[in-house]
Amino acid sequence: MSVLVFADAKNGKVIKSAFEAVSYGAKVGGGSCIAVTYGDVSNADELGAYGASEVVVAKSIADNDSQVLSALVADVAGQKGANTIIFSQDFTGKAIAPRVATKLSAGLVSGAVDYPTADFTIKKTAFSGKAFANVKITTDNRVISVLPNSVGAENTGGSATVSDYAGDVGVSKVKIIESKSAASDGSVPLPEAELVVSAGRGLKGPENWGIVEDLANAMGATTACSRPVADIGWRPHHEHVGQTGVAIRPNLYIAAGISGAIQHLAGVNGSKVIVVINTDAEAPFFKAADYGIVGDAFEVLPRLTEAYKKFKASN
Ligand SMILES: Cc1cc2nc3c(=O)[nH]c(=O)nc-3n(C[C@H](O)[C@H](O)[C@H](O)COP(=O)(O)OP(=O)(O)OC[C@H]3O[C@@H](n4cnc5c(N)ncnc54)[C@H](O)[C@@H]3O)c2cc1C
Repeated sequence: MSVLVFADAKNGKVIKSAFEAVSYGAKVGGGSCIAVTYGDVSNADELGAYGASEVVVAKSIADNDSQVLSALVADVAGQKGANTIIFSQDFTGKAIAPRVATKLSAGLVSGAVDYPTADFTIKKTAFSGKAFANVKITTDNRVISVLPNSVGAENTGGSATVSDYAGDVGVSKVKIIESKSAASDGSVPLPEAELVVSAGRGLKGPENWGIVEDLANAMGATTACSRPVADIGWRPHHEHVGQTGVAIRPNLYIAAGISGAIQHLAGVNGSKVIVVINTDAEAPFFKAADYGIVGDAFEVLPRLTEAYKKFKASN
């Protein structure tokens, strides 16, 4: 079996979720895989440490255009004789994996949380993360997209040869005029964030978000919010997490003044550790929490910030 992994890149660097996808691909491929990336990337060779034996770089592709990138992946799969294609189930992976599956007449499993068994049965999330399904791919070509933070990236210390893509992906049918990062403050974008501090209607108004930002800044975390908070304009829409917002899987999710409605949980219940701060001991979020603080966010958040700063200073 030959495995090809799509490694997404942004701002001249292969992004974090790509390293996990390559680790996954290397395990599926019995120790190694080929990776494909694009643009003027400076760290393509680093994928070798995560199990890529070769990295193909399509330098001439500058934009994140799903049609062009899916043509690239399908073409490299053909050139390399790869029959198993791995993506990260992030924004780009979600857009490209189904297109590549169609091009290669491949069975697709999206949102895999574990490695395939010998007969290519794969565990994946279903119903917005409330259930798991085991799905078997029965076609010769296979496409799998891996949920970020589900298996982890493993540095095995190898190295990769980096080669230029030789092929033709055709002309794009759209022209990207401008792309702007939603997070203009330099924080890690939510889908890639390992630490997230989030707040909801319990914060009473946008003027109170300073205490949320203080904790996030101290920890190097990204801020998020519940949907009503974004709907009423207290926070920007790109911070809204949940079923209809961004789905995240950080190592730590701190939620203050959020009730824990199922639609909110659907986007955050893959977090490794959940800390809930709520004045109402009966708030549903406590059932999903690893740590719960029954208390007023206006008191608890500043104390957490202070405690974190002290901890940092002494370590
Ligand atoms: C189709 C559909 C899709 C949806 N998608 C999403 C989604 O993607 N994401 C999402 O978040 N919601 C979504 N919702 C809305 C969801 O059902 C809830 O209404 C929403 O999550 C509630 O937001 P909240 O917890 O901020 O507010 P509330 O439900 O009003 O909860 C506020 C909480 O703050 C606590 N609180 C109050 N004061 C304090 C204080 N001083 N300190 C600490 N705690 C305090 C209260 O006890 C309460 O638990 C969706 C709803 C529908 C119908």
